[in-house]
Amino acid sequence: MNITGDMLIGASAVRGTEAKLQAIDPATGDVIGPDFHGGGAAEVERACALAEAAFDEYRAISPERRATFLEAIASGIEALGDTLIQRAQRESGLPVARLQGERGRTANQLRLFASVLRDGRWQSATLDSALPERTPPRPDLRMQKIPVGPVAVFGASNFPLAFSVAGGDTAAALAAGCPVIVKAHSAHLGTSELVGRVIQRAVADAGLPEGVFSLLVGAGVNIGTALVTHPVIQAVGFTGSRAGGLALVQAANNRPQPIPVYAEMSSINPMFLLPDAMSNRGPQIARDFVESLVLGVGQFCTNPGLAIAMEGPSLDAFREAAIAALTEKAAATMLTPGIHAAYEKGVAQLGDIEGLKQIGAGKAPAGPNQARPVLFETTAQRFAEDHRAQAEVFGPSSVLVVCQDQAEMVALATRLEGQLTATIQADAPDYESAGRLLTVLERKAGRVLFNGYPTGVEVSHAMVHGGPFPATSDTRATSVGATAIERFLRPVCYQNVPAALLPEALKDGNPLGLWRLQDGKLSHR
Ligand code: NAP
Repeated sequence: MNITGDMLIGASAVRGTEAKLQAIDPATGDVIGPDFHGGGAAEVERACALAEAAFDEYRAISPERRATFLEAIASGIEALGDTLIQRAQRESGLPVARLQGERGRTANQLRLFASVLRDGRWQSATLDSALPERTPPRPDLRMQKIPVGPVAVFGASNFPLAFSVAGGDTAAALAAGCPVIVKAHSAHLGTSELVGRVIQRAVADAGLPEGVFSLLVGAGVNIGTALVTHPVIQAVGFTGSRAGGLALVQAANNRPQPIPVYAEMSSINPMFLLPDAMSNRGPQIARDFVESLVLGVGQFCTNPGLAIAMEGPSLDAFREAAIAALTEKAAATMLTPGIHAAYEKGVAQLGDIEGLKQIGAGKAPAGPNQARPVLFETTAQRFAEDHRAQAEVFGPSSVLVVCQDQAEMVALATRLEGQLTATIQADAPDYESAGRLLTVLERKAGRVLFNGYPTGVEVSHAMVHGGPFPATSDTRATSVGATAIERFLRPVCYQNVPAALLPEALKDGNPLGLWRLQDGKLSHR
């Protein structure tokens, strides 16, 4: 499959008329052809008009047909083989093995949503029988969830496959029955086109209306803003910076009809190290923590940017082991020159904070856009006094915070901003303290994990990849896992609708064999 540098609007390949964009190899700074040309308001209008025209037909097709469509996208991505991996490798600087794993995850996500569609519970079919004898009489009430309408998705820089064109947001929205318009991330334009062409072909092969999918390209805020503010768009999925996410939330709120923006933005993923766990296995925790810190050059939203421990001899062993492990770690290429510059700036800003000192570092950079892993240390008191210590530094940088006692640790947890994850390292004698922390942390984070490391987000039914602000803009949602579909659905109640006009999912006799809540009882009859 050739990369042409075109946008994909419905069934067409469209050459943009706005500024030229080029993919850059971050490892060398070289331009990777071909040139792309950004789109503008006209292309947004065209993609939105097609999406609106496609919506009613797409949402009416059977869940089975939608499931098969998602599976065809998964197979199409796999069939791209090395072409996709090589292009993604050049554009992102990420290792081949990591990208192969990410491709598997992308396909699995699509297949998970296919299974969610077949399972049917996503529709939340609910029936409350009429009670004509009651005073006042109760009407016949039936509820199901339907798709919200066309969705805009912003591809993330740090997952060129799994959070990009056919990533979790797109898979969830397509599963829900929403046409999707993706704004490609400028960091992996060719990868985006390859995957976009797979979806475009799957739309055609499935006989779906062309507007079910479009892929737009463009640098700067204009195209993204035009997309989010277009009246056709009914929800937005975004992964990226806090500034970018908040700008889109604001643009969406300023529309005559405000719409939800599900923005996943910034998190420092605190890890709490309790005393018995530290004395039993502190050095091992330190080594595993460093592995998690440098994984993917720290460019994961779940990167452990904060470790919180208590003063004592086991802390010394932890610190020593962490510094030793870090010293062995090489600097590595970041995703883009911009992300590398932001990392350098963030590390310098941490270094400027009084009472926060660098205690360890990896090997010095040996090429362009390489990040050197770093570990800082401070006290809980200083951490509380300077809000900059809580800022996400996207990359392999972490801060070790030392508390005097458990009360100070709990107080620190209470003051933390919202997080995607919070980790507790605890052995059995720590459980009482861990329980106190858990009560605080379940209010702070979307996922609380014990005796593990936050990087590595399973795609499953129970996963939550979300959390209070600034981790996300909507604490009720997850962007990973089966329940991510909920973001793109809304409930509709059908009152006294004639049997002949009821949706299939709500008809008497349950012709689809769904699990339904019938007069308050779950039943599949
Ligand atoms: P970004 O700057 O937020 O950009 C993400 C996407 O949103 C891009 O397509 C960008 O367009 C678009 N965009 C950004 N601001 C916009 C605005 N005001 N209006 C309309 N569209 C806008 O994120 P990034 O480029 O991936 O990385 C920059 C920083 O984001 C990193 O250094 C890191 O701090 C953070 N980040 C965080 C996570 C996380 O998971 N928490 C993941 C990735 C990045 P362009 O294509 O024109 O840039």
